[in-house]
Amino acid sequence: MSQSRNVKIVATLGPSSSDRKMIRTLFETGVDVFRLNMSHGTQDDQRERYELIREIEHELGKPIGVLADLQGPKIRCGVFADAPHNLTVGQSFRFDSDETPGDATRVRLPHPEILGALTEGSTILVNDGKIRMKVTAAHGDAVDCTVLVGGPISDRKGVNLPDVVLPVAALSEKDRSDLEFACELGADWIALSFVQRAADIEEAKALIKGRALVMTKVEKPAAVKDFTSILDASDGIMVARGDLGVEMDLSDLPKIQKSLIRDCRNVGKPVVVATQMLESMISSPVPTRAEISDVAGAIYEGADAVMLSAESAAGQFPVEAVATMADVARKVEADPQYRESIDASRTTAKASVATAITAAAREVAEAVDVSAICCFTHSGTTARLAARERPNAPIIALTPIRGTARSLTMYWGLHCIISEEVTRFKLAVVSAARAAKQMGIAEEGDRIAVTAGVPFGRPGTTNILRIAPVDEQAIYEGESNY
Ligand code: PGA
Ligand code: MN
Repeated sequence: MSQSRNVKIVATLGPSSSDRKMIRTLFETGVDVFRLNMSHGTQDDQRERYELIREIEHELGKPIGVLADLQGPKIRCGVFADAPHNLTVGQSFRFDSDETPGDATRVRLPHPEILGALTEGSTILVNDGKIRMKVTAAHGDAVDCTVLVGGPISDRKGVNLPDVVLPVAALSEKDRSDLEFACELGADWIALSFVQRAADIEEAKALIKGRALVMTKVEKPAAVKDFTSILDASDGIMVARGDLGVEMDLSDLPKIQKSLIRDCRNVGKPVVVATQMLESMISSPVPTRAEISDVAGAIYEGADAVMLSAESAAGQFPVEAVATMADVARKVEADPQYRESIDASRTTAKASVATAITAAAREVAEAVDVSAICCFTHSGTTARLAARERPNAPIIALTPIRGTARSLTMYWGLHCIISEEVTRFKLAVVSAARAAKQMGIAEEGDRIAVTAGVPFGRPGTTNILRIAPVDEQAIYEGESNY
């Protein structure tokens, strides 16, 4: 039962998970948000998957989140006359603008502005970081390097340049086309890859025009360094450990993950921990001990969501991978040490009526038995603040806006439901009680906490906290003045 889990599961769809039956099974096994990876497949492939998700959402009557992940300005080398070439330690290698196919000593880097930005001493990584080179001489339109760690190089291998802020546009032509496509489709979140500065996010937001929320993938050292302004500009964060682990020392990842999770929680923005969480499950029905521990660690640290990439998109055991995550989550969240550390790391939110109300709702749930905290929300802000509190009681986010319900599926602990537009508080309490019962979270005779903004229909007005019985008769009798 999804009610027993707070951390969310994001699963990437791909060749292993593109038919209706599989997508539905993944959702029923525990996926909250599906990720469409624009780096792979065509827009038509993604549209097909998107439509299946929406059909399943309709069938099951539960909002499902969709995250469209843009490829971003990924840099690749040119092509070779014959490949692969095995580069060896100590040899020299040149990147230039010459369109002649490469050989064992040189290849084209089809980004003149990057060739111009590299300087003596810059690091160049090729092929997911397998090959490491250092620039020995920069000529403006070419760089000479020496190979520090060797490996195979071939056509269009990915190139990472960790120590320069690259003079490239945040969004490529393909990204702009994919962004518009995803917004028109109805994606709830857009993920931006290789973000280097807050301005990159602003640029995307100007094109998204409020049609989706923006998740920034932290996968460049520059984004880690400028994280405060990046977080400020973003609606959510992905700890993109794949590329981050190429561009930084692997041993730096745990500390970065911890600090990103903490910072996100402080401001109440969701944080997703991604990549290689259950990597061995691509080809094995059981994970390794280390993977289980990694998933558990992210949950103990307070992440909003954990993510599957190739495990669900291209692996042999997508359902088992989701079930494994859900299982680990249940075990971790039932552990008193989890609650202890979640409570110990809570900070006070920036003062506002809404934050005071959501904090009070959490305190009430700590002091007396409350089956659920029910938040009426339009923009999603109140539900977001409730999730930020990480209360011990389940949170039900009720909203009349379908898009809000869908985008809130990304947040820790939120059970999202599309409610009717209510105009009176009494009716709101009744509909919250009904929702809690219908979701199996509360029973007749229980109590719920309800937050709302009166008058209704005005965003940003949360100003009421009511502790109510889950009993319609009692609600009507007790609330006759509203
Ligand atoms: P990717 O992003 O899967 O699109 O590369 C995630 C990561 O780099 O970790
Ligand atoms: Mn990446």
